[in-house]
Amino acid sequence: MWTEELKDAAKAFEGTCASLGEISDALAVSDDQVEDLLLDAGLERCSDCEWWCEVGELIGEDGMPSPCPSCCE
Ligand SMILES: [Zn+2]
Repeated sequence: MWTEELKDAAKAFEGTCASLGEISDALAVSDDQVEDLLLDAGLERCSDCEWWCEVGELIGEDGMPSPCPSCCE
């Protein structure tokens, strides 16, 4: 499990397009764990623009995965 501190630090990457490598370096988390941490922090990478978004924003009204709101505009 992740500490709240680490999850807060991970949340700071919302709205950025930082790579997993950059984030794992910044948070001192291993590369294969960083995606798990971001998911736990409620962030998911948009499949189109590769920005980190809140997980709920990437689900369409039909419940299927969709790009983030800025990609849909
Ligand atoms: Zn997007």
